[in-house]
Amino acid sequence: MRRTILAILLLFTTATNASFQTTFREGLSRANAARLKPLQARLIETIRPENCRREHRIFTAKPHMAGTARNYELAEYVAKQWREYGLENVELIEHPVYLPWPVRYEATLVDSNEKLSLKEDPIPEDKDSYASDVGIPYCAYSADVDVTAPVVYVNSGNPEDYDLLAQQGVDVRGKIALARYSVPYSYRGYKALTAQKRGAAALLLYSDPAEDGFKKGEVFPWGPWGPESHLQRGGIVYDFNLPGDPRTPGWASVPGGRFLPAETAVSMPTIAAAPMSYRDARKILERMTGPTAPSAWQGGLPFQYRLGPSSDKLHLIIENDKKVRSIWNVVGRLHGVERPDEWVVLGNHRDAWVFGGVDPSSGTATMMEMARAFGELKRSGWRPRRTIVFASWDAEEFTLTGSTEWGELEAARLKAGALAYLNVDSSSSGHSFSAAAVPALAGFLRDVAREVPDPSGGSIFDSWLRESRSSQTKEPLVITRLGSGSDYTVFLNFLGVPVADLTFDGPYGVYHSIYDSFTWVDRVGDPGYYYHAAMARYWAVAALSLAECDYVPLDYAAYAREVQSYLDETERAARTRNLQLDFTAARAAARVWETNGGAALRTARAAVARGDTRAVERVHAGLMKVERALLDDAGLAGRPWFKHLIYAPRPTYKALVLPALTEAIEANDAARATTELARLTRALTRAANAIQQ
Ligand SMILES: [Zn+2]
Repeated sequence: MRRTILAILLLFTTATNASFQTTFREGLSRANAARLKPLQARLIETIRPENCRREHRIFTAKPHMAGTARNYELAEYVAKQWREYGLENVELIEHPVYLPWPVRYEATLVDSNEKLSLKEDPIPEDKDSYASDVGIPYCAYSADVDVTAPVVYVNSGNPEDYDLLAQQGVDVRGKIALARYSVPYSYRGYKALTAQKRGAAALLLYSDPAEDGFKKGEVFPWGPWGPESHLQRGGIVYDFNLPGDPRTPGWASVPGGRFLPAETAVSMPTIAAAPMSYRDARKILERMTGPTAPSAWQGGLPFQYRLGPSSDKLHLIIENDKKVRSIWNVVGRLHGVERPDEWVVLGNHRDAWVFGGVDPSSGTATMMEMARAFGELKRSGWRPRRTIVFASWDAEEFTLTGSTEWGELEAARLKAGALAYLNVDSSSSGHSFSAAAVPALAGFLRDVAREVPDPSGGSIFDSWLRESRSSQTKEPLVITRLGSGSDYTVFLNFLGVPVADLTFDGPYGVYHSIYDSFTWVDRVGDPGYYYHAAMARYWAVAALSLAECDYVPLDYAAYAREVQSYLDETERAARTRNLQLDFTAARAAARVWETNGGAALRTARAAVARGDTRAVERVHAGLMKVERALLDDAGLAGRPWFKHLIYAPRPTYKALVLPALTEAIEANDAARATTELARLTRALTRAANAIQQ
């Protein structure tokens, strides 16, 4: 699903020198780094843009939503290719999950007797858009509705929008709320939750041309933005409370397993919602009466927006089946010869809303080419020290379902031995490299970027630095505030595995529409597939480095410094609310953690330099435990599945830092905040102790 929450990127014009020579890489002895150089070069050489393009065509040839025969066919194709490449233990893993599909979606303006099309138009430049099996557009996990009611315009559909409507005397209760997808981004499930809480009869989500259409620039097929009938499908499930099959909170859905009723899950919306193009929404917006909308609410259509209600009622019917369907993850491995139980996990989801040009098939094509390159390396006699796990997830678009179920299934082994999870959802919608990760991995991700060429010349590090630079470190910006929205969630929030999420970004207005297609990528997003190849190379070099490292290059001094800045923020938030909280112990614990994190890496460097493998091993074993130490098994209030005490998603998918503490402070609950601060302090102490020298 992955829509990047764009951080404010500072643009710098100063170019830096390309630097492929690094004298030092964290985690590697000099000898080991020298040994890896030719392997790395070989991976980079083997990976070819034209192969990415060929794979991309296969995955985007037909719609392949989760649960469809086509997506199963593609699972078999992935498995067949991986076996051919030389991956080991390639298996299709079945998870029966609650996966409703749409049956009926109709919207008719009653008085004018005008039925809205609710369809996207085929365009001659993209022959795939003529496919007859693109399905009924819908919002997965929507409730059913059959209602006739006036419509109210609710802007972005956030709580402050409803507050403004109330001030203006516009009552939303019992009416149909019409919200626009909007920047700043908030997850559509949050819009649904808000509409549900405010008593709307249903929610329609439309793509305003000001957000992703002609107001932004050229529309597809001439440019990256959405044409007039494009609409954005997507889940509205409350997976910020619980991702994965709603029937199995915290355990895996397996054939013949134990299941709770889906309807009662904390992740299930009770409101109905559906997506709409601006071509259809326009017909409603033009019929709005009532106060004029504030200027910030005005979209890109050429008339004055009004708050409503609409002069004409809308008859809206949304119906979904309530079926359980099988989804299929594909998992393959290159077994580690020295440490088979230590895993480097690489994942991408395979299921798409329609063709999945960018989301996710750009990532899938990237992954296939990366896997092929590893297969070539294996053919030359190389074997990894640690196990590399390749995963093609299913039903990410629904509720991060495939990765969550597999993470729950393999929880014990992942907690014992996972070094990191490297996620690539959409690999290439443009040219801007972007990495989100836990702070411990930020330095590693920068090191890898220095090793991999960028299609524009120089290294990925160079172009990344040109586009984004952290004001503090003068280094490329790794987004460390991790919310949710892709398959890394189970690894970070449920299992305590260090995660990274990688992409090349660009202008992209066809997200989750039929125009997110092979042709969009081939013509607009990444002609020549150079950025697909660049991501495959980056991902491969990162995986190789982790699989072969002497000690895992996790920088907990950096993590602890970041957490100290979160403590500062949180203390300020508490003070503005006049909550008396004593942060002394938490700060002290974070400082010890910072000291121990720095000392651990110094010890490891010295130990590899003198060849003291037992000392290296001790530090490595400690580093492996730190992220896990940040989990608390009781989880967060009201959503115990989320166990990480530094990061969690807000309902908008935005990152919530120090989530348990922050939520207590935001609730003005001093007693709970005190308890949470103590719980956080214990986690920080555990993290520090894991790497006590
Ligand atoms: Zn995706």
